[in-house]
Amino acid sequence: MYDPVKRAEDVARIVARGELRKYYRFRPARFYGGIATADCVGCSLRCIFCWSWRQVVTPGAFGRFYSPEEVAGRLQGIARKKGFDRVRMSGNEPTISREHLLGVLEHISPDILFILETNGVLIGYDETYALDLARFKNLYVRVSLKGTTEEEFSRLTGAQAGGFTLQLKALENLYRAGVQVQPAVMVSFSPAHNVRALRKRLGQIAPGFENIEIEELVLYGNVEERLRRAGLKCDTAHEPADIPPEQV
Ligand code: SF4
Repeated sequence: MYDPVKRAEDVARIVARGELRKYYRFRPARFYGGIATADCVGCSLRCIFCWSWRQVVTPGAFGRFYSPEEVAGRLQGIARKKGFDRVRMSGNEPTISREHLLGVLEHISPDILFILETNGVLIGYDETYALDLARFKNLYVRVSLKGTTEEEFSRLTGAQAGGFTLQLKALENLYRAGVQVQPAVMVSFSPAHNVRALRKRLGQIAPGFENIEIEELVLYGNVEERLRRAGLKCDTAHEPADIPPEQV
């Protein structure tokens, strides 16, 4: 079992250099009604179902370094060309380099919505991260919970169970700081009673958090093989053919 905060520091040494951060792709996507997307490299977790697994396990082998200004320029260029009013950082974990992330936000026009997709661990670990993010009124944060309990989190990510508590703490820190935030939850491995219990737990953090966005597994690449080796079963997986690749 690894400590996800310590892993974030270790991975940051590979994928971040001062204000620079590694990315492996920039693209338009159909999610959120159309959004410009920057896929960064490197994550603090190792989810067994991750669809960008290769970038997670070998971050040194992918992408190149970009400045915050370059990233914002590329995102806004795609958005302008496609007529989108929103951009996002996705792929791996955007929060690993705080200096870079805040730099990108500084360069995004206030009339463009920036969607931050994060596992939240670092924002839960340090509440000042949420306060830094609260400066940006065009920011919406989607915290993706890995399972519904501490135990499920550990089973799905291989990380210490406290990482799940940090995910919930991120929601609390962001809510208290005044950031627009909602939880999303991977439920494909969770019994219904655990999902119900999580809704209750989330509702105690903030009103509306019990309305979780449900995430279900998509069997990209060798996900099925990884699940088999880990002895994990899932009844609600989707085939990649069900979902257009540009929506990922
Ligand atoms: S947090 Fe996201 S990017 Fe990181 S390993 Fe999990 S699914 Fe992959």
